[in-house]
Amino acid sequence: MNLLRQPWNIVFLAGFIVYASIRHVFERRTKGIEKGVRRIDATEKILLVFVAVGNFILPVLYLFTPFLAFADYRLPAFVPWCGSATMLTALWLFWRSHSDLGLNWSAFLEMRKDHQLIRQGVYRSIRHPMYVAISLFGVAQALMLQNWVAGLSGLVTFVPLYFVRTPREERMMRDWFGEEYQDYVRQTGRIIPRLK
Ligand code: SAH
Repeated sequence: MNLLRQPWNIVFLAGFIVYASIRHVFERRTKGIEKGVRRIDATEKILLVFVAVGNFILPVLYLFTPFLAFADYRLPAFVPWCGSATMLTALWLFWRSHSDLGLNWSAFLEMRKDHQLIRQGVYRSIRHPMYVAISLFGVAQALMLQNWVAGLSGLVTFVPLYFVRTPREERMMRDWFGEEYQDYVRQTGRIIPRLK
């Protein structure tokens, strides 16, 4: 089992448990809140399945079974250290963005009945901090799991979802909030902070 052969795998697993726990807490908090709009189609569903495979199934297979051993490789010793620093940043941003969105958060493209536009906290200068956090987690996965398949799968599966989802999400927000959202877009960057 790879988990015990590579100490970094245990660090990755610990980070992964924190990541999943943050999601779980906010999923419970937002469960049952009434929805105003829901925009989920077949493309979105397929891309979400890819993300589940890349972020969860392949890392678990790598950590707990020998199935992916054919793709193992070795990284220089300093690389997983960089990976853990990236993971800490990702976890902080993941938690902060959930906490700033509060009851407005949803894993899917949907608006709550009483949806509020959040423009403070990590949303003050960028519109997609949570997607940045998920991408950083994918980078950490690549730097910590020394396997071509399980290392790269997080990032490779999330990037297509990011490119399909962000324009749809922004369209949905514009339809819901109108001029207020246009104004927010003018004052923020998509993933690179716009400093006023
Ligand atoms: N794209 C954002 C949020 C991801 S969660 C990020 O990366 O941080 C997705 C849901 O969050 C969307 O369905 C939308 O309803 C909601 N959302 C996105 N930005 C928001 C904002 N600034 N204020 C309130 N809700 C927002």
